[in-house]
Amino acid sequence: MSELFSNAVTSIRLGIEDFETDDSDRMLSAARNYYAGLLLLAKECLIRAAPEAEPSQIIGARFKPIPNGDGGVEHVIEGYTTVDLSQLRSRFKDFGLTWPKTDIKKLQSYRNDLEHYHLKEPSSALSEAIASSFSMMVEFFGILGENPQELLDEVWETILEQKAAFDKIQADCLASWEAVQWKESVERLDLLACPECGSSLVAQLDRENTEHHEIMCKCFRCGNESNHEKSIEMVVEACFEVDAYLMAKEGMNSPINTCPSCGLDTYVETGDISFCYNCEESVSGTCARCGNGIDIHEYSPDHEELCSYCAYQWEKMRDE
Ligand SMILES: [Zn+2]
Ligand SMILES: [Zn+2]
Ligand SMILES: [Zn+2]
Repeated sequence: MSELFSNAVTSIRLGIEDFETDDSDRMLSAARNYYAGLLLLAKECLIRAAPEAEPSQIIGARFKPIPNGDGGVEHVIEGYTTVDLSQLRSRFKDFGLTWPKTDIKKLQSYRNDLEHYHLKEPSSALSEAIASSFSMMVEFFGILGENPQELLDEVWETILEQKAAFDKIQADCLASWEAVQWKESVERLDLLACPECGSSLVAQLDRENTEHHEIMCKCFRCGNESNHEKSIEMVVEACFEVDAYLMAKEGMNSPINTCPSCGLDTYVETGDISFCYNCEESVSGTCARCGNGIDIHEYSPDHEELCSYCAYQWEKMRDE
């Protein structure tokens, strides 16, 4: 067993053992160990994929060119920083490895919350982090061809228990949304995030409610209840935030916009949908002057019938 791999296993074990104490003061060290272990596992996957290479050349975060004396350069490691989760994800791709389908932004936010805020219930925050990263950990062990049950021994039971408990509450939360009649399709409610504690265990307050304009959210971790306005924004964020992130990377407009009619961040513009999830306003249409399509980005409340270009021309003409 390589030193790095044995450190990975030890870190995860220590993290879970701290977690098992259920002592709030030990949750931060539990989280640090657990995350360190996950990162080390991922690094080990890369190292084993290029066994002839020097490990530091694989997991170093930054490199700088140094002249090699023959008119060329050599890339040497700069500093001691090693790759973080998001860099690991892109290196997995470069190495031809499959990155697990886990929401790492969420994992990082759990860890940061534990680190920076005094959470009311740090152990339940960590419990959710462990459950959410379960499949990621299993996939890393799978890539390595190692057996987590054997290596993690008695803490493996604890991990399985957290996963099972989380899955049960999550299923219950998702079921609470089933009766709601939406105008447009609503998916990915497992990505809801409590505005207080970040937990994804968010259910509908009134499980019998079928009206989308009456929904309210309740968090199963911290008990926080959100009013309707906040709740509908949370739903839109859960459904479209992943797209928003990808579109921003491509330099495109976000699908989530402020509604010109009700003022909430619930106006969704995807090309297919141009519609407010809260008040059902739609500004989509065609420009009366040039015939181009009008969407939320083209729309101006002063010139509802015109695209932004024609509205601008109209204003210019009027001012002359
Ligand atoms: Zn909460
Ligand atoms: Zn609206
Ligand atoms: Zn126009």
